[in-house]
Amino acid sequence: MNEEQLEKSKVAVVTGAGRGIGRAIAESLAEQKMKVICVSKTESSCGAAAEAIRSSGGDAVAMPVDVSSGEEIRKACENLLEEHECVDVLVNNAGITRDNLLFRMEEEDWSDVINTNLTSCFHWIKLLGRPMTRKRWGRIVNISSVVGLTGNAGQANYAAAKAGMIGLTKSLAREFAARSVTVNAIAPGFIDTDMTSGLDERIKEVALSQVPLKRFGKSEDIAEMASFLCSEKASFVTGQVFTVDGGMVM
Ligand code: NAP
Repeated sequence: MNEEQLEKSKVAVVTGAGRGIGRAIAESLAEQKMKVICVSKTESSCGAAAEAIRSSGGDAVAMPVDVSSGEEIRKACENLLEEHECVDVLVNNAGITRDNLLFRMEEEDWSDVINTNLTSCFHWIKLLGRPMTRKRWGRIVNISSVVGLTGNAGQANYAAAKAGMIGLTKSLAREFAARSVTVNAIAPGFIDTDMTSGLDERIKEVALSQVPLKRFGKSEDIAEMASFLCSEKASFVTGQVFTVDGGMVM
């Protein structure tokens, strides 16, 4: 098989592919001729993303899964592995925020964020990683955040989850390396999506003042990095965290 035929046969799962960063990643992997399974919480959201990919000539299907539930992820993976011998690429991107100062944070705000952003990665990787290691080829990309590197007042739950994703990434990079399965993380800075659009203008102004490149990121800025990390070209890159943030964290 030549390189293009190899790419054609690859299957990629992208979580949180309905909107924002995940949708841009799904589109860029479809451009690499992968079959993309667009996972998101609501059927209408991942359905629209998959439909948009198909209408521009790509191959995509929608799969609504609530990633905060290990049971839902298990069922989804069973179905996926019945249909496909192996999922070659996994991008753990689904994420939520429930911001508050610690003394005002409810336990539910803590556990929702940890389950959705971090524990979901454990389940997806455990279930889809084994066939990857058997096939001796795989790409796993976890979408963390600069906040996982620096911390942020009002985001203890989110920062803990995002820092946890970095520890998970580095540990599994070591576990899977002998099988040519790479595991990397991306730490986006402030990206213009639904997650950030509702923030107070004052908070946005302060955030922008900390970005040397003087703009907020676009979902495509993250998708470009994810697309590279999922490609054949990134075969010698593993266990790394790539900050894509306009220079905010140096
Ligand atoms: P977004 O616009 O809010 O989109 C989030 C996506 O995640 C949606 O598709 C949503 O599904 C999905 N999702 C949320 N909860 C889910 C659940 N329980 N089960 C399945 N899917 C779920 O977010 P974004 O800004 O693109 O962020 C994507 C990732 O990048 C997140 O992990 C976020 O923490 C990280 N990040 C973002 C920024 C930023 O500035 N935007 C910065 C650093 C890191 P539906 O579409 O079905 O609702």
